[in-house]
Amino acid sequence: MSAAADPRELDLDALRQRLLPESGGERSTSIPELADADPDLCAIALALPDGSVRSSADGAVPFSIQSAVKPFLFALALADTDGAALDRVGIEPTGEAFDAIKLESGTGRPPNPMVNAGAILTCALVDGDDPDERASRIVAGLSSFAGRRLEVDDDVAHSEHLLGDRNHALAHLMRDEGTLAVRADDAVSVYARACAVLVNAQTLAVMGATLALGGVNPVTGERAVSARIARDVVAVMATCGVYDGSGRWMRAVGVPAKSSVSGAIVLSAPGRLGAAVVSPPLDEHGTSVRGRIGAETLSDDLGLHVFG
Ligand code: GLU
Repeated sequence: MSAAADPRELDLDALRQRLLPESGGERSTSIPELADADPDLCAIALALPDGSVRSSADGAVPFSIQSAVKPFLFALALADTDGAALDRVGIEPTGEAFDAIKLESGTGRPPNPMVNAGAILTCALVDGDDPDERASRIVAGLSSFAGRRLEVDDDVAHSEHLLGDRNHALAHLMRDEGTLAVRADDAVSVYARACAVLVNAQTLAVMGATLALGGVNPVTGERAVSARIARDVVAVMATCGVYDGSGRWMRAVGVPAKSSVSGAIVLSAPGRLGAAVVSPPLDEHGTSVRGRIGAETLSDDLGLHVFG
């Protein structure tokens, strides 16, 4: 194995050029905005402990964060409940799709915070007396991870809320089990807005770095969450972040990460860096095809595999 490259020198545009000919996968058709995404959007970004952020071309192109938001929702729920969120949501991998209609047997809790049921619940655990207050708290909390003011794409949020039938089903199921304390529709409305927050690859890399570096944003120096929360969240990303592809991901890439249907993947390499790899076409696990190959290459080139 050759020596690891320096992340300050790695040629990210050359990596992007190597990824572009990979033509496998399909865009999500869950909402019109994702079905219409540019299939050739392809970006790689790195955020380093010294506060520098590097990216390939397309690094500033906006997209909705979708499920890459879930680690940060879990972090905010842990912060706002003083850790009690850990009693309300499981942390075991499911081996099933992101939107499986399934809760933990015996407890009725969502299986983990990285699948839809879990994220609908963590959205309901953040501070706020009503859906608007909770959504504002989430956008402010995400902005602290990002180091800049983020915004919700209202069209995406509307489509998510209107067309997310399985998410409504999950929220009703959790109401029936007594595990969701707020109205089902209110819970889905906040979750839809969280998924619709606009980011780009550079921003997502900074968010991943904030988790990887003990909860402190390396660009602003601001603490977003405690080191303990950051550690807990990265641990759950490692086991559950890529849904039913999590085992394969940890073997091949070996970096805690969260995939999403917009084709964005956020990576948190503990103590090392944050990264984002983004391209809309997805494989059968809902993971970006180019993103997975790009993440494997980054892991190999930079020596990021946690068991390496
Ligand atoms: N907003 C998407 C949904 O709830 C998120 C799923 C994903 O990104 O994997 O279906």
